[in-house]
Amino acid sequence: MDSLASYACHPEESRGRRFPEPESQMRTVFQRDRDRIIHCTAFRRLKYKTQVFVYHEGDNYRPRLTHTLEVAQIARAIARALALNEDLAEGLALAHDLGHPPFGHAGEAGLDEAMAEFGGFDHNAHTLRILTRLERRYAEFDGLNLTWETLEGVVKHNGPLAGCKARTNKAVPAGIAEYVGEHDLEIESFAGAEAQVAALSDDIAYHSHDLDDGLRAGLFTIEEVEGVPLAGPVLGEVRARYPGIELQRLVPEMIRRLIDRMVQDLIKETQARLAAVNPKTAQDIRGLDAPVVTFSGAMEKDNEGLKAFLMRRMYRHYKVNRMASKARVVVKELFDLLLDEPGCLPMEWQELAEGLDRPALAQLVLDYVAGMTDRFALEEHRRLFDLYTKAQ
Ligand code: MG
Repeated sequence: MDSLASYACHPEESRGRRFPEPESQMRTVFQRDRDRIIHCTAFRRLKYKTQVFVYHEGDNYRPRLTHTLEVAQIARAIARALALNEDLAEGLALAHDLGHPPFGHAGEAGLDEAMAEFGGFDHNAHTLRILTRLERRYAEFDGLNLTWETLEGVVKHNGPLAGCKARTNKAVPAGIAEYVGEHDLEIESFAGAEAQVAALSDDIAYHSHDLDDGLRAGLFTIEEVEGVPLAGPVLGEVRARYPGIELQRLVPEMIRRLIDRMVQDLIKETQARLAAVNPKTAQDIRGLDAPVVTFSGAMEKDNEGLKAFLMRRMYRHYKVNRMASKARVVVKELFDLLLDEPGCLPMEWQELAEGLDRPALAQLVLDYVAGMTDRFALEEHRRLFDLYTKAQ
């Protein structure tokens, strides 16, 4: 790892873990963080959590697990090209979606509505909660006891959360505010460059793979992609090079070029910014007024156009809306019933529920429901609401 840039996050300079532990002789702290994330329960559940399509809608769509792996692959490639810490970038990519409830954004909307009087629900705050409290697999602490840099990167996936650098005036989610009161993650500054890489790798991954999944689902046709910024010109290039190419090969040839185009642009623009700003340390990057890892202005504009197309033709397609509507109801009904009748919770959760006041019970029920996979949520809903299904 001698080849790391001076402004990368260097493992030997990590601010460490909240609960001190002997470190490994073999793996750096960021390698260990990455490994802990892969081995945790929430990571395995990504397999049956929705990215855009619910798991039973088809075997060839991306669930959140394969989305996550694609993000990690892209983040690693970019981190290597920029001489940043690959392990940290990869770990952050692997963790970035752990807090998503079942059914993706529909599930999040349902839980946010259900939790309205108790402070709402935010998937990023929930990721932090999983990593610092809900995973109970170590004898000496709750959570995974990850390094400061990994937790920082997770919390700032969308940039600074507070202060003048924050992109929104939205209040800091209660769960994050509470945690940083005890463990300061400096939420008013930008994260290190590795976290910025992971965040934009997320955009690169879903912009490209959602086009693939949307075509596969028949939500739009390849002819309609011709007019889409970035994707349209790339499609034209593939057709010009391989006249008469069949759709089955055409789409992946387009997607791989699309990813490459975005990655190359990001690396070039980021190198230019790094040269202009000349940071010496990771802390210099955190202290800047803008992210250092970015697309060029032209690519950002193209990305906006691509995103607008996906929004119109995919995320708001009536077929996706119908499934989202059902999913929102499932999640909300589960939450409301279990909050009103905690006696229906499984025994181990009932034990945790004993003696809790209503806001604390709501948080517990939220933890239970948000942790569900799509598959489990549908089964649990059937067990609780369908008289003809056995309760157990
Ligand atoms: Mg994501």
